[in-house]
Amino acid sequence: MSKEMQNYIDDAEKALLHTYNRYQIVLDHGDGVYLYDTDGKKYLDFVAGIAVFALGYNNKEYNDALKRQIDKLIHTSNYYYNVPAVEAAKKLKRASGMDRVFFTNSGAEANEGAIKAARKYAYLKDGCTDHEIIAMNHSFHGRTYGALSVTGNKKYREAFEPMIGNISFAELNDFESVLDRVTEKTCAVMLEPVQGEGGLIPASEDFLKKLRALCDERDILLIFDEVQCGMGRTGYMYAWQRYGVKPDIMTTAKALGCGVPIGAFLMTEHVGQSSLAAGDHGTTYGGNPLACAAADKVLDLFEEYRVLENVREVAPYLEKRLDEVMAEYDFITERRGVALMQGLVFDRPVAPIISKAIENGLILINAGANIIRFVPPLVITKQNVDDMIDILVKSINEM
Ligand SMILES: *Cc1c(COP(=O)(O)O)cnc(C)c1O
Repeated sequence: MSKEMQNYIDDAEKALLHTYNRYQIVLDHGDGVYLYDTDGKKYLDFVAGIAVFALGYNNKEYNDALKRQIDKLIHTSNYYYNVPAVEAAKKLKRASGMDRVFFTNSGAEANEGAIKAARKYAYLKDGCTDHEIIAMNHSFHGRTYGALSVTGNKKYREAFEPMIGNISFAELNDFESVLDRVTEKTCAVMLEPVQGEGGLIPASEDFLKKLRALCDERDILLIFDEVQCGMGRTGYMYAWQRYGVKPDIMTTAKALGCGVPIGAFLMTEHVGQSSLAAGDHGTTYGGNPLACAAADKVLDLFEEYRVLENVREVAPYLEKRLDEVMAEYDFITERRGVALMQGLVFDRPVAPIISKAIENGLILINAGANIIRFVPPLVITKQNVDDMIDILVKSINEM
């Protein structure tokens, strides 16, 4: 590493709050599926800023759309309409199959809105304020209080108690464990169709179908957090479409703006008509013209580049190549995930392997201590997969 890069890292450690143990690399710019550090060293990127930069870096059409919007209007208030928000909302409705959109700045904020909508829906039915939400163990919904309260990982919550009340946790893919927690007061069941941070664990179709039936029977809202697994990552625009189980409320973010901060919570017309109303929820930045111009362009480019087709073509190849790696090493115990959202489970911490891979020109990331997560740009090719596997194997062998 150059002295210059080391200086950036030293300065960062003096100025930034130390809430991340960062890998020792200062990223400078990107092009396609490659990133470059401040020394000009090139890296193949299999993280995409954690499932964000789906279209690859330095995309001219995307960059130009943003530049045009910067010259027109970057921000205005939600008290006025703006064209990019209208366009993005229409396209997002079509892509998601949902009916009503509220734009946020992040995934956590989208989940905050989803929780508020569910509570308001229940409140309008009985006038009570003691409604309960069932979330899942090992889930991840974000770091703000509402989102953290439904995050099924004690490590993230403990020091920050008390959380918002009336939340209980069931086991993903264990329908009985959900049933055990349902009461007269249950207003929502909330989960990721494919758990991301929790370890790349897909919900089973059977589990989701049973949840849907339960929720229909009891007028409980089914909330899907598609912040990570949405936007094409599973080979469908949204994972619910893969399973054929439609939620009442859905959240999205990460790849929606491909790097410009934007998320959204969406709902069916029925929930939209009987939950949040004027004055109930708001945001200064959410849905601003610049962020919406990004989402609008991203949704166009998904079609233009046939992103879903590419995911469906490349993902089975990635799975096959990862399975081959797993078969070579007895300390790799499992591969799991869906499409371009994969994890290799090790019987030991993976941070040293990831550091070695970065040294060898491959950006990877963990999910928990023992899992290497693969969430590459959705435009990767089979050749990119082969290159990744070569560096991964080399890095493991050097350990
Ligand atoms: C990343 C993530 C979030 C939080 O999104 P932020 O934009 O970081 O607030 C919420 N849910 C899931 C499933 C995520 O992967």
